[in-house]
Amino acid sequence: MPDYNILITDGLDERGQSILRASAKVDSYEKVSAEDLLKMIADYDALIVRGQTRVTTDVIDAATRLKVIGRAGVGVDNIDLEAAKQHNITVVNAPSSTTVAVAELTFGLLLALARGIPRADATMKQGQWLKKEFEGVELNGKTLGIIGFGRIGMEVGKRADAFGMNVIIYDPNVSEEELTHANAEPVSIQDLFAWSDFISLHLPLNVHTRDLIGPLAFSQMKDGVRIVSTARGGIIDEEALLRALTSGKVAGAALDVFEKEPPGLTELVSHPRLIVTPHIGAQTAEAQSHAAEDIAHEVLSALREESLRWKVA
Ligand code: NAD
Repeated sequence: MPDYNILITDGLDERGQSILRASAKVDSYEKVSAEDLLKMIADYDALIVRGQTRVTTDVIDAATRLKVIGRAGVGVDNIDLEAAKQHNITVVNAPSSTTVAVAELTFGLLLALARGIPRADATMKQGQWLKKEFEGVELNGKTLGIIGFGRIGMEVGKRADAFGMNVIIYDPNVSEEELTHANAEPVSIQDLFAWSDFISLHLPLNVHTRDLIGPLAFSQMKDGVRIVSTARGGIIDEEALLRALTSGKVAGAALDVFEKEPPGLTELVSHPRLIVTPHIGAQTAEAQSHAAEDIAHEVLSALREESLRWKVA
């Protein structure tokens, strides 16, 4: 058996760990401090993280043996990709494992927004019965604008179609072929803003998408629009969202992701018409198990210099 040493720093579902242990020595921790990681990393051929561990230039400089970094999930914003590239370290992720989990949370948030479910629950637990205050709206017959029609956006589109929604999408990279399988109409971003009753974000955060949903975008939306983001903090300008919620331009919003995580009890987080969840999009037993299994195989493939399915850098 090759003498691979693998370090896991944000925990990993048992299914992934047992695949790794069949071929390598594995040290697994639920949490490792930045200081400890710097001291430990020189002993390992592979590092597997989720979203918590920050793989900085310092970590990569100290990682003299490291050949591969695996992210058990999608987002690699906690890994310094440039530094990894300079040190010839491969970075892989497990992008499809969490798709359904995020799409289902998104749908939960759409329904929660339409019917005020979290507040209805919270007020009953305070001993109140505010039936008359909870007149919601239906998803059926409404227009859902999906920005970013990749893996998750498409799954959300399918569910929206089943709920009787008209689905319009904006994604500059989506192909005709991908659209033939989806009951969704591509439109310009301005038309999407103008026509949507609900907007759901499923695009990456990058220099082009930072603050994409800011004052200009809000001014182009329908009055009373409802917005969900399970994508990445930073795509919505949070100050502009707070103003739009307070003015009533936006009737309600739901966020699973924030510019700063955790955001603390800010004015936005406490807003009565904002529903918040602590970045739990991928937090299902099934997604974690699939992510662990996918990343275990991918990291072992990278160590064995076999072909890779999900090479990020
Ligand atoms: P994906 O790469 O399959 O799809 C993203 C799509 O966005 C692509 O089709 C791309 O063409 C499109 N896009 C890029 N720039 C765009 C722009 N400026 N305007 C419109 N569309 C644009 O990714 P995915 O797996 O569907 O993930 C989507 C998002 O969900 C990512 O931001 C990811 O980080 C996030 N995510 C969140 C969680 C969570 O826990 N909440 C979990 C997994 C993924």
